[in-house]
Amino acid sequence: MKIHEQARWYRRDDDLTEPLLVEKDSTTVDVSVDGLDDSLTRDELTLPNIAEPEVAAHYTRLSQMTFGIESGPYPLGSCTMKYNPKFTERLAADPGAHVHPDLPDEACQGILEIMYHLQRYLARICGMDRVSLQPPAGAAGEFAGILICRAFHADNGEDGQRTEVIVPASAHGTNFASAAMGGYEVVTVPSNEEGRVDLEALEAALGPETAALMLTNPNTLGVIERDIEEIASLVHEAGGLLYYDGANLNALLGRARPGDMGFDITHYNVHKTFATPHGGGGPGAGPVGVTDRLADYLPDPVVTVDDDETYRRVTPERSIGKVHGFEGNWLVLLKAFAYIARLGDDGLLDASAKAVLNANYLAERVGYPIPYGPVQHEFVASASGQDAGEVARAMLDYGVHPPTTKWPELVDEALMTEPTEVETKESLDHLADAFNAVRDLDDDELAERPKRTSVRKIDQVAAARSPVLNWQSIETPKS
Ligand SMILES: *Cc1c(COP(=O)(O)O)cnc(C)c1O
Repeated sequence: MKIHEQARWYRRDDDLTEPLLVEKDSTTVDVSVDGLDDSLTRDELTLPNIAEPEVAAHYTRLSQMTFGIESGPYPLGSCTMKYNPKFTERLAADPGAHVHPDLPDEACQGILEIMYHLQRYLARICGMDRVSLQPPAGAAGEFAGILICRAFHADNGEDGQRTEVIVPASAHGTNFASAAMGGYEVVTVPSNEEGRVDLEALEAALGPETAALMLTNPNTLGVIERDIEEIASLVHEAGGLLYYDGANLNALLGRARPGDMGFDITHYNVHKTFATPHGGGGPGAGPVGVTDRLADYLPDPVVTVDDDETYRRVTPERSIGKVHGFEGNWLVLLKAFAYIARLGDDGLLDASAKAVLNANYLAERVGYPIPYGPVQHEFVASASGQDAGEVARAMLDYGVHPPTTKWPELVDEALMTEPTEVETKESLDHLADAFNAVRDLDDDELAERPKRTSVRKIDQVAAARSPVLNWQSIETPKS
């Protein structure tokens, strides 16, 4: 297969008085296309040959057509989309952080030291004993956690018997998927009228076939599972493990720890809680933490320190192996380390206080009903009578990003809202005004929105099936 390519570049050691121009007509790619249908292969690919100012103009234009984390309030519930301070980016851009992952331990002691301390920070924050930074996202952390659970039961000779993972009906979709990918049957338990796990239903679901219960606390309604200690003893009495989905950790930072509540395994969404960017599919990081009895199963590697202060990557004795390449997404982890180190204990306490305060202030001001509470760092309002998707689109006209919609299904036309700790009172007021302005639109007005965005109604199916990836997004005037 030939790819047509025109490349020009200057080499660093070139004599700049006589610029070197390299024109390459074709590059041979060493990939066999045997067996592929003709419609799927091509002989030529013409790539635009564009100067840096044009590239900069193109991406700046695109960034202005969309709504980003630096455009204004972004209360996408459960996702914790918050401002990412720039000092973490500067650190991640430092050439000293860019090392080849195959370097021997002696040659990257500084990086291993940071990884070691990040493991310790994370363990301490959640009350876990040991952490591996390896999984590349929360969902991957869940999958790793489920494999740990499997390996643990297998070592107890119970793998064949423990075939079920229990997940509350209101859980994030990844919980169901991770349990299923780990080879388990998923059993769902309903919520009670307060929006918490129904204890009677849980007791009925638990048994000798239970491998684990996956929970987040506060749960996806933003409501604290008050019976967590009782839930933990019920699960442990049945011989199961308790898994903590860390997506809602913002509400707990410095105040309560899953480990103290009885959880055995946790994942951390560092890109949610610790201000490293996410969106567009990543990259993120989803470290997984466990209590002592599960430490030998952690993903490979974990970083340890010897008496002479040499840091080492080691493979835990009964490790489930790797769920990603090398040590995970190191530069994302570095940003999480920097964020935690700069905030310190007081800063983390302050973050959870403001996350909860902001959500409660906003909840008070929003005119849509909020069926479940008291809430912590997020709330789920009901747009009942309107379509939550239309509400979301209309909110864009007011210069705010909409909340998460139609999930959890427990709330009719759900608007799952998480303002995060970074918003000011002014931006929270603006956000509340935007919610209330949309609530007051009649059906016809609602259907006409948004009016002020660069693209009005996106046909998401068409956009996915035939994406337009042209770099020339503006019309060229006739000369
Ligand atoms: C975001 C989220 C996840 C999955 O995390 P990713 O890092 O996006 O893979 C799991 N559970 C809950 C509740 C979440 O909000």
